[in-house]
Formats: sequence, C-alpha cells, structure tokens
Amino acid sequence: MGAAPLRALILSDIHANLEAFRAVIDDANNRGGFDVLWCLGDLVGYGPDPVACLKLVQSHSFLAVAGNHDHAAVGKMSVESFNYAAKAAAHWTTSQLPEDEVEFLSGLPLVANNDPFTMVHGSLRDPLEEYLLDADSAEASLKLLTSRFLLVGHSHLPFICLENKGTPQFVEFTEDAVLSLTEERWIINPGCVGQPRDRDPRSSYAIYDDQATTIERHRVAYDLESTQDKMREAQLPEYLIERLKLGI
Ligand code: ZN
Repeated sequence: MGAAPLRALILSDIHANLEAFRAVIDDANNRGGFDVLWCLGDLVGYGPDPVACLKLVQSHSFLAVAGNHDHAAVGKMSVESFNYAAKAAAHWTTSQLPEDEVEFLSGLPLVANNDPFTMVHGSLRDPLEEYLLDADSAEASLKLLTSRFLLVGHSHLPFICLENKGTPQFVEFTEDAVLSLTEERWIINPGCVGQPRDRDPRSSYAIYDDQATTIERHRVAYDLESTQDKMREAQLPEYLIERLKLGI
C-alpha cells in the first residue's frame, strides 16, 4: 500500500494575527485544500490573538517548530535583544497565555522533519535567531541539511534558494507560479502570514502537493482593520499596528 496523497499548507510567522491566519486557510481551501499544516515558527508575538491562533493550529493535523517569539513569550529566551515594540508585545503575549498554551509552546521542537522536507524557523546553524538571507547563511544550512528541502521563516520575506552545483542562488518565489520540485536541493521561505515585510500587506503562504511534486505560493488580503482595532484595544505599540498596512 502506498502512502496517502499529501497536500501541506506551509505557513510561517502567524504572529497571533487571527484574521490573516483565517484568510490564508480559506484561500488554501479554495485552491484545493490541504491535509496538514506545517508551521515554521513565531505562532505568537506582535498580534492580538495568541490563544485563538494556537487553538486554530491545534484544530488541524499539524507539524510546528518554535520561533524566537514563541520562546520569548514563554520565558525560554530573553527579550533583551528585542526592540521596544517587540519587547512590549512579548510581555503582553505572556500575560495572555494560559498554562496549557505555555506548555504547548515550550514543547515545540526547534527542527522538524517530514521527508523530503526539514523545517526550522531561522536556520539550521541557529534555529531561532539567524536570518537566512545570504549565501553564507544558506551555505551553512545546506551543509547541515540531511533532506532535499529546507523550509524556513523568520525574515518574513518569501524566496527560494537553489543549491546550484554547491553554490546557493537566491531566486524569486513568484506569486501564483506552480513550481516543480527538482532533484536539486532548495531552501524555501513561504513568506509571512501575520506581518509581511516585503511592502505588500497581504498574507503569504505556500502549498506543497506530493502527488504533483509541486510547490506554489499565494497571497491573500485579510481584514487588516479588525486586527488593528484589536491591537489598539490591547494597547499594543502603535508602530506594530501601523506597519501592518505598510507591509514592513
Ligand atoms: Zn517572525
């Protein structure tokens, strides 16, 4: 008996933005649906709905790794290196988490595998904090990679990095293109659900289809004003509220 067909919804940096997370799930369902959620960390931090977002992840079949904001929210990582706004949001998030969600976030692994994919928030060299955005960081992760593909988040920027005869080459992960996965090794960032930073405020995500052996990336607008209203109500920093509509 062969393995059942699998479609994975690949998400990173949900950041407690429930409107964005729901819009992504609806959009993915309109594009053929999915069997499993793969979450690349930073489920919480910045946004106004940490508990609802965690519940929504848990209501699906899922694989998730921890991000720096997840660890900060549960006290597993110092917020010393965070800027003022991120620090304030981390403290607020901590105040919202019941004990069972603290345990859930604390228990997330740094690296997860579902062959041929490995998942990590930052990089394999530094799972929580390194931004994988240049040839040096890509090369270091490819050295440590034991599967064909590496999924990363953290920078909130979508891209594909191909291992071109041993040399990492960054290329655009074009919106709505359906890409066939080749024998080459790839590092893939699906972009960000809850706080996009490529000057496009729409949420970004990817879908992997193991029957077609394809991966595709899509964007979807969400009810950003509702998220901003909730953030004001929670007295989260104005900078975090404003940046959502700028996509920065
Ligand atoms: Zn993040």
